[in-house]
Amino acid sequence: QCVAVCPTGALTERDSSAKVMDAIVDPKKTVIVQTAPAVRAALGEEFGMEAGTLVTGKMVSALRKLGFDHVFDTDFAADLTIMEEGTELLGRLGKHLAGDKDVKLPILTSCCPGWVNFFEHQFPDMIDIPSTAKSPQQMFGAIAKTYFADQLKQKREDVVVVSVMPCLAKKYECARDEFKVDGDPDVNLSISTRELAQMIRNANLNFEALEEDDFDQPLGESTGAAVIFGTTGGVIEAAVRTAYEVHTKKPLPKLDFEELRGFEGIRSATIDFDGLPINIGIAHGLGNARKLLEDIRAGKSQFHAIEIMACPGGCIGGGGQPYHHGDVEVLKKRQRAIYEEDKGKVLRKSHENPFVQKLYSEFLGEPCGHKSHELLHTHYYDKKKKIEI
Ligand code: SF4
Repeated sequence: QCVAVCPTGALTERDSSAKVMDAIVDPKKTVIVQTAPAVRAALGEEFGMEAGTLVTGKMVSALRKLGFDHVFDTDFAADLTIMEEGTELLGRLGKHLAGDKDVKLPILTSCCPGWVNFFEHQFPDMIDIPSTAKSPQQMFGAIAKTYFADQLKQKREDVVVVSVMPCLAKKYECARDEFKVDGDPDVNLSISTRELAQMIRNANLNFEALEEDDFDQPLGESTGAAVIFGTTGGVIEAAVRTAYEVHTKKPLPKLDFEELRGFEGIRSATIDFDGLPINIGIAHGLGNARKLLEDIRAGKSQFHAIEIMACPGGCIGGGGQPYHHGDVEVLKKRQRAIYEEDKGKVLRKSHENPFVQKLYSEFLGEPCGHKSHELLHTHYYDKKKKIEI
């Protein structure tokens, strides 16, 4: 067993790659893989490539050669997360503007399990503030084991969902009881960027020489907004792109929100929603998150929405990435790669993803509707209480 330490302190690392290979060679199982946005900006480093080399096409090719039946993109579910989280933000804002004193603001992003674990233990009195939207990893699993399993005409227990993540806390997240149906997890196994690299080496694939390949459909389509989830500030920028257009019913004058980007531990910006100023906060690193949470607890926070990521730099600096932790220059190169992929996408706003639109029209209904709540939202626990008991 390989053991390494997660920089978020969330857990020690367990290598699940042997279990993944067991599933791939099991003829009764259909094995689906999803890959998080930050993985493609760092995987090449494991094969001697320059930091920040985008290897999306080669990664897809390698996954197909390893034997996965469907190669999909967590970015699809990141677009879905924006649909749900953005709708939740606008819902809470609307109530706040109508004078509802009970509405909880700021809304906090909820896609980072290192951060979720932190607030459940350290700020359990505030567990009704974060968005209830599941993380993209878990939204993907829920859709793969329902909508997509139905399309395959397969039972959910015959479908195995594997995630490739920059993150060690994702292993713990997919094992949480609330993400299982009758004991069957929505995401069966989560492996890190480093574990995928080792699987590629074990299979004797010449990674650099691989042809570029494309994700499968329908759960492989994504927009530039989903890609930027991989870096600090990206989730909230993606949410702003959609929430602005939904709220104002006007196209955004510009898509790049430079004021939300960068590497400072705590950042803030006010975005003009056509006459309505929206105050945005961003924190990466849990020490910085604590400062913003203490302000909220003291009633001093002026923010309407805050993005929090446990790892410095966000997921590009995750504990499952190639070992360059703490090297800001490497993080900057990975971040540039993420923005480069966003810029190169034809569609750059989550609500424009045609497969996400189809998913709502065929299956989910509307964002934050009944079925979405059942499949795409979650709840949090007071872990302090559990520990004290
Ligand atoms: Fe995982 Fe990303 Fe959160 Fe780090 S910031 S714990 S990599 S989800």
